[in-house]
Amino acid sequence: MALAPSVSGNAINGLGETAARPARVVYWAPNPDDIPHGAMQRWFYTVDPDAAPIAAARAERQVILNAPLADLAGPPVERPPEEWTAALTRFVVEGICEKTGVAVMDQAWVYEGQSIAQSRVIVLGVQHDFDAISTAPDAVAGGEVIRQYGRAAGAAKAVAGWLRQQGWAAEPVTGPMAGKLLLIPPALACGFGELGKHGSIIDAEMGSSFRLSAVLTDAPFAPTPPESHGIDDFCASCRICEDACPPMAIASEKQTVRAARKWYVDFDRCLPFFNQTNGCAICIAVCPWSRPGVGLNLAAKLARRAARVQGSAADAATQADAP
Ligand code: SF4
Ligand code: SF4
Repeated sequence: MALAPSVSGNAINGLGETAARPARVVYWAPNPDDIPHGAMQRWFYTVDPDAAPIAAARAERQVILNAPLADLAGPPVERPPEEWTAALTRFVVEGICEKTGVAVMDQAWVYEGQSIAQSRVIVLGVQHDFDAISTAPDAVAGGEVIRQYGRAAGAAKAVAGWLRQQGWAAEPVTGPMAGKLLLIPPALACGFGELGKHGSIIDAEMGSSFRLSAVLTDAPFAPTPPESHGIDDFCASCRICEDACPPMAIASEKQTVRAARKWYVDFDRCLPFFNQTNGCAICIAVCPWSRPGVGLNLAAKLARRAARVQGSAADAATQADAP
């Protein structure tokens, strides 16, 4: 806490602001000196750096980050947009990632002061090992998060390399230092579920237990649609993550953040515990959607309930219209 800046992370995030504006980098800056919380970001790496799960995962990830990207080979291969998008299935089948989606680039997803010229964002999801993430806030969970950031980086580099070999420039974007692109908004736009009360995405297949990376390109991929499973309503009547969060950083009500009403985690409350515990991850581990096999069943149950409610409303309307 001695390293905390005078400015609140919630102010940087735009909590309470009613006008829209670009997001500012609050944490995980590529260069920590560029942000007020940079000293805290550097301190994160001093916590248990020699703990076996952390050290091994960091070394594994570094090898992936250091691997060269395939050279750009021209001329660009032409394919119909749907074929480009369908071709991404290969990366899931080969176990390189667990989910893919494509969004048409929206400048609202770019951090303040940055620009992105490419027209498409390919979003990639990699799932945590549930047993490992369930140990949160133990270092085993912290190591698992780093391991999956490594896999996510490997997936982005594999997809970018595949595109470059077909003559299309492609830029991998790998977390947590995503640099110029916010990852959650394009993921929500292209079918990765809904934002949960704990501030992370809940996907019907992977729950909250996954990490994201992306590829920026002009290859003409067809966008994939957003998905809604009633998760937003589910969160309104669940408080498992709220109760489990040691520093009580998860708000029970949605907040206004840069003109949007949404679930929000208090950055200033979360960060000290997050830093002290190699990234915490309790909230994503305890979320019921994260349990293997649970998410799709829950989504089906919510869909049946919504259909019943709709059916009852239609019956009531018919009876009201009857003479
Ligand atoms: S634990 Fe409950 S309230 Fe929290 S994100 Fe998961 S479903 Fe939503
Ligand atoms: S990461 Fe930990 S401290 Fe932060 S909101 Fe989740 S449970 Fe709370």
